[in-house]
Amino acid sequence: MEQFNEIAGAFLCPGNYLGDEPYGSGHINDTFKAYYDVDGREVHYIHQRVNHKIFKDVPALMENIGNVVRHQRKKFEEAGANDLDRRVLTLIPTVDGKDYYVDSEGCFWRTYVFIEDAVGIDVVETTGQAFEAAKAFGEFQSQLANLPVRLHDTIPNFHHTRSRYDTLMQAIEEDTHGRACNVQAEIAFVKEREELVDLVIDLLASGELPERVTHNDTKLNNVLIDSATGKGKCVIDLDTVMPGSVLYDFGDMVRTTTNQAVEDEPDASKIWMDIDYFEALVSGYLETASGFLTPKEKELLPMSGRLITFEIGLRFLTDYLQGDSYFKTHREGQNMDRCRKQFAMVKSMEEQAEAMQAIVSR
Ligand code: ADP
Ligand code: MG
Ligand code: MG
Repeated sequence: MEQFNEIAGAFLCPGNYLGDEPYGSGHINDTFKAYYDVDGREVHYIHQRVNHKIFKDVPALMENIGNVVRHQRKKFEEAGANDLDRRVLTLIPTVDGKDYYVDSEGCFWRTYVFIEDAVGIDVVETTGQAFEAAKAFGEFQSQLANLPVRLHDTIPNFHHTRSRYDTLMQAIEEDTHGRACNVQAEIAFVKEREELVDLVIDLLASGELPERVTHNDTKLNNVLIDSATGKGKCVIDLDTVMPGSVLYDFGDMVRTTTNQAVEDEPDASKIWMDIDYFEALVSGYLETASGFLTPKEKELLPMSGRLITFEIGLRFLTDYLQGDSYFKTHREGQNMDRCRKQFAMVKSMEEQAEAMQAIVSR
């Protein structure tokens, strides 16, 4: 509690501080719901300790977030949106006018207005939820399509699939844990698809694909859904906003919402890309994004799911070979099973490529 008094004192939240409790199901940051009393009325904020082990340059990250949310707010204002404090994250400044506070232990904190009566959905259950999430991320991107500043690359080469591929090839060669013999089929799978890894990188480099502001963590639970209406309310979790391709964001939505099996499901018969969910994602996304997407971006939407799923699978495989040093594991072979799930999804998307393309062209 001592600690929270320090945090509460550091930010300009109106009212008297009452207390904090852990909140939400995020895996990256430490998130707390804070209670304040404003003239007898209870008011809530989010106090969040940023994970500075993962994010090496928190001041740059916070500058990105500040630029993004202020631009979004302006866009919502221009569009005459009401309910502004629930449509966009609102940063509460510190007493010395900054967007974050460094505590006595060197940890970084930020404070947001709490978005009431809205929840993040951890496990997608309906195509309607997929539709709403994709619509919200599309709106997010469209608002930021004319952001006047270039954001910091807070995680350089985040989606540089070619470097991910090269790292894997090196891990196979070194085979430090003698595991390559267990994943020969997966290694062959990757090599057969090598051409995929340069596709988006090359198109970005040649200018055929535009660089845009992307969210980079487009999981369903990073859109808060209005509890009363079921509509997407607010895009949150902006730690990874960076310059990139919209295809990364759309591809990750496809990867994370079109299959409901657990991430390390060993039973391949439970893993396929559910085209109904894909269709819902496309409809929701195009409702808000079609105004700014180039024909090339649109054409590549189905491929983006395959690419991002392939990329994550590749990273699981690399980590398996390197002795599980990056992704936490609870059992031997877990990263291998995670990789297999991703590759089974890639395969399923390849089999349905034509149907996916037809949905986008409609
Ligand atoms: P992580 O990177 O750890 O996922 P998030 O920023 O997504 O961190 O926050 C974790 C959870 O806290 C979210 O899934 C959401 O439920 C809740 N949350 C975050 N910000 C707000 C907010 N401004 N209002 C209400 N809930 C929030
Ligand atoms: Mg989150
Ligand atoms: Mg996050």
